[in-house]
Amino acid sequence: MAPTDQPNNFIQQIIDADMQSGRTSTLVTRFPPEPNGYLHIGHAKSICLNFGLAQQYNGHCHLRFDDTNPDKESDEFVQAIVEDVKWLGFDWHGDIRYASDYFPRLFQWACELIDQGKAYVCELDSDQMRAYRGTLTEPGENSPYRDRPSAESRELLEKMKAGDIAEGAMTLRAKIDMAAANINLRDPVIYRIKHSAHHRTGEQWHIYPSYDFAHGQEDAIEGVTHSICTLEFAANRPLYEWFVENLSVPSEPRQYEFGRLNLNYTITSKRKLKQLVDLGCVVGWDDPRMPTLSGLRRRGVSARAIRNFCASLAVAKTDGVVDMSQFEHFIRDDLNTNARRAMCVLKPVLVTFTNYDSEGERFNVPVHPQRQELGSRTLPFGRQVYIDANDFSEDTSLSRKKFKRLVIGDYVRLRGAYIIRAEQVVRDSNNNIQEIKASIVPNTVGADAPEGIKPRGVIHWVSAQDAVDCTVNLYDRLFKQAEPDAGDSNFLDHLNPESLQVIQGCKAEASLGSAVAGEHYQFEREGYFSRDYADSDKVVFNRTIGLRDNWKS
Ligand code: ATP
Ligand code: MG
Repeated sequence: MAPTDQPNNFIQQIIDADMQSGRTSTLVTRFPPEPNGYLHIGHAKSICLNFGLAQQYNGHCHLRFDDTNPDKESDEFVQAIVEDVKWLGFDWHGDIRYASDYFPRLFQWACELIDQGKAYVCELDSDQMRAYRGTLTEPGENSPYRDRPSAESRELLEKMKAGDIAEGAMTLRAKIDMAAANINLRDPVIYRIKHSAHHRTGEQWHIYPSYDFAHGQEDAIEGVTHSICTLEFAANRPLYEWFVENLSVPSEPRQYEFGRLNLNYTITSKRKLKQLVDLGCVVGWDDPRMPTLSGLRRRGVSARAIRNFCASLAVAKTDGVVDMSQFEHFIRDDLNTNARRAMCVLKPVLVTFTNYDSEGERFNVPVHPQRQELGSRTLPFGRQVYIDANDFSEDTSLSRKKFKRLVIGDYVRLRGAYIIRAEQVVRDSNNNIQEIKASIVPNTVGADAPEGIKPRGVIHWVSAQDAVDCTVNLYDRLFKQAEPDAGDSNFLDHLNPESLQVIQGCKAEASLGSAVAGEHYQFEREGYFSRDYADSDKVVFNRTIGLRDNWKS
């Protein structure tokens, strides 16, 4: 039963009622991706909903590939989707299922419909079919092939199946009602000829079922009780029900629709995401700027943050656009709690301590200030450290309030280490700062500042001798427009040219040399980062997100 501590959405209310009336004893849902691309954040909403309901009601959720269109589908996409669903933290009931496993059964049902006089082979081409279909305000007209004898349709269907008929020359159509108000019921096509090879069934089939002819029957075969899909399928529901009613299906699933997730500043359409990949606007489906699950993972977003975000979304009968900052809030919230702290200097400037010559001094600092159980890490210290160029100024008139960093002649604390004082700047022949000469204030590690010394602030640093050289990718939103694909606008025109900034020559604390991809870090004062997995010889970190929302107006 559903827990009572959260308000039920309309689907939970339907399930509750079905369980009370006895229509449903075990809830069975399914997530039915088409393997024609990688999963995106929109799919996560559907995954969390379908698998989440199954968990909540002690039921089952199936993973079923809707692989009915060989032209666009591939095994690469199947593998990526399987990996993403697992990564998101869900496990399906039984084996992975495929629409293609049901092709023989679906074909039998098509024959059954023909034999009942409820389907026929039609020879109208697609233009003619469109003309016969009518419009929203005018009824359609019957196809001249509508009343051909069943035996003839059966014979032609066999030929279509055997590959003897050219693509587009014939279709199999359900005989329903050319005057139906719902255009989906005007003798919809249920089988098309395609001579392309299928990634699982190879050359075995030359005809493929339509989505509508496949989906409900597959649900029925699997005993799916509640077939949950997005609103755009609402108009297909009468057809879904027509097949369930008119065929000898083993169970009677029902379809329910909810509002899809749309997120601003990005796009949630596999077709458009594929365009970004194919045109080289991004490095691949898993580019950290992509709203794909693999892109988000590579960027350093945790599965938990995505699940929490999805749990915050309304499951309603209307579509809406969710603000990207809502998603980002859940990303930050999760990383703030779970990311390990570390230091990395993005724009290094060398600091040499003139009054320090110890060797091998190390400081222990916590991995996470609020989570003792994560233990501590060791920071080697030395005569030279790097600090960030933005944390230093020669302008001694800067007020302490405005610039809480290092200024010539003044003090600052190095996080977890000494208080230091900047003494002098050494320049190279181009007049650039080459080095800052500074001094440490002895006995200030883990201790208050002595009388009369007031550090301006705390800055991050890395021991020069032990630093790990790394590259940092700073990512920002992929689009600069809130609704890049609204109306007639071409989403490709709205790409944010500053969505990636690569910074080379960064200096990370020693422990980051062994950082593994998938581990999350907060680089203190810089943001949240995760090691990239593309090139394991080099140390590359991807910025998941900054510490604060810079897009807020
Ligand atoms: P796309 O338009 O991106 O290709 P799709 O609906 O064609 O999406 P499918 O692979 O058919 O992609 O989708 C699998 C399931 O995920 C379907 O049940 C679909 O309703 C759901 N889904 C797809 N996009 C979203 C979204 N933005 N929000 C919620 N659910 C979605
Ligand atoms: Mg689809």
